[in-house]
Amino acid sequence: MGIEPLRDGHGRRISDMRLSVTDRCSFRCRYCMPADGMPWLARDELLSFEEIARLVRLFARLGVSDLRLTGGEPLQRRELPRLAGMLAQIEGIEDLSLTTNGLLLERHAEALVASGVKRFNVSIDSLSPERFHQLTRRDALHRVLRGLEVLAQFPQARPIKINVVALRGFTELEVMPFARFARERPFEVRFIEFMPLDGDRTWTPEQVLTGAEIRDAIATEWPLEPLVREPGATARVYRFADGRGRIGFVNPVSEPFCADCNRIRLTADGRLRTCLFSLGETDLRGPLRAGADDADVEDVIRTAVWHKELKHHVNDPGFVRPARSMSAIGG
Ligand code: SF4
Repeated sequence: MGIEPLRDGHGRRISDMRLSVTDRCSFRCRYCMPADGMPWLARDELLSFEEIARLVRLFARLGVSDLRLTGGEPLQRRELPRLAGMLAQIEGIEDLSLTTNGLLLERHAEALVASGVKRFNVSIDSLSPERFHQLTRRDALHRVLRGLEVLAQFPQARPIKINVVALRGFTELEVMPFARFARERPFEVRFIEFMPLDGDRTWTPEQVLTGAEIRDAIATEWPLEPLVREPGATARVYRFADGRGRIGFVNPVSEPFCADCNRIRLTADGRLRTCLFSLGETDLRGPLRAGADDADVEDVIRTAVWHKELKHHVNDPGFVRPARSMSAIGG
């Protein structure tokens, strides 16, 4: 008899895992991290490559097929292409993807593609060098765009998506340049609503520039046609009516997509988070290092996932934000 795939108590099948491989990052984006960074995890607190591979093998046996490597900034973890190669070999992992700030993409793109990473999301919040610098506290747009060009040379690395965090009072000036970018380049631009996971803990609903507002602004210039949303997808994707490219909107605040959520997250220090906004976590590193066998770890995973939250409560009175910020969860 086959292994029962991982399901939560709401009947949702879990097939997608975001795996944070480090909490460190080379940028200091104002909506994510304080200027001085965060108290970083010590080296021995991080899961080793072998521990990560063992856990991913377990999750794959339980039906996880899509694996996204995140951080902090995943390319800050030394030898990431080697880890990606180990994970791409695991039976059941059908899709390996990466979210990066792009700073080290020029150096690692070829090795990542060769190791089996198929899909890439590159975070770019402005196409103006000055405004990029203002937001990320790094004068690095030119290096990120060079990395993108290098990555685009590998036809097997598709799709390549550009993640743009939408901030009221900043992103309005970026909307049309990014729409033009999506029309002229082989990249799918996605605007992501700002979420209450910033390191400074200053998020307010007023700072959220909604996907609908951005979509309507673009449509005044270039009509858009909605594409069918895949179950579990986070983005609502549109094609330009004249056929020149696609643009997406990830609207967790204004249009939550929790009903068919198929995602879980594993932090760099081995904590299972069943929701981006979980207030609790399940330690998997402890049992691993205490010598637990696979059956025991599987039980811990199944129990945690069974209690996965139905949805987030960002828009509800009394919403409590998680202790961990986005940089230590990994998006
Ligand atoms: S907020 Fe939680 S339940 Fe909702 S889509 Fe994100 S991870 Fe899933």
